[in-house]
Amino acid sequence: MKLHTIFFDLDSTLYPESNGMWQQIRQRIDLYMHERLGLSCEAIPELRHDYFINYGTTLRGLQANFRIDQQDYLDFVHDLPLDVYLKPEHQLRQMLLSIPYQRWIFTNSDLDHTIRVLNKMEIQDCFDGIVDVWSLEPYCKPQREAYQRALELAGAPDPQACAFLDDSIRNLTPAHEAGFFTILVGQNGSHPAVERAIEDIHDLREAVPEFWE
Ligand SMILES: [Mg+2]
Repeated sequence: MKLHTIFFDLDSTLYPESNGMWQQIRQRIDLYMHERLGLSCEAIPELRHDYFINYGTTLRGLQANFRIDQQDYLDFVHDLPLDVYLKPEHQLRQMLLSIPYQRWIFTNSDLDHTIRVLNKMEIQDCFDGIVDVWSLEPYCKPQREAYQRALELAGAPDPQACAFLDDSIRNLTPAHEAGFFTILVGQNGSHPAVERAIEDIHDLREAVPEFWE
């Protein structure tokens, strides 16, 4: 397969959802909404669902409806001991480095969190660049503009020469429509917007040997 750039989501893609970190981030988001914005615990799940559907992420929904400081929010929700959830991933590192294309992170998370996670996994030097929530402003995945922005930031490769890995079918769908080769991570199964599905990032080479051909 002749590709130029592969985009990787971060959370629940480069590390498994089962390590529990993303659930903790979700709880920190609930806590932020309760402590900082005074929202009742009962109201939060429905609000978050509404923001997820209508704005892409809770952050974007809160920004549209409250006066919040984005940096403060991001620092609060990512204030976790990463050692509990992540460790050096030398096998993953070797696999990533062997992919003969540009490798970019494309995440709705922020740069600080992304760098901390990559450092903890010791894969920080496997990537040519990071597209994060700051560089996507005011958009985020799954808005189409976010994918255009990611392509621009990565040097404007033809989307037909790009692949995208994410744990969310919702995030993969606009990429598929734009012409990316799409890979769902974290679950098996088929979907019209998904070219391949792998349960774990370590399965990539087996599932998509064409990347190395
Ligand atoms: Mg994810």
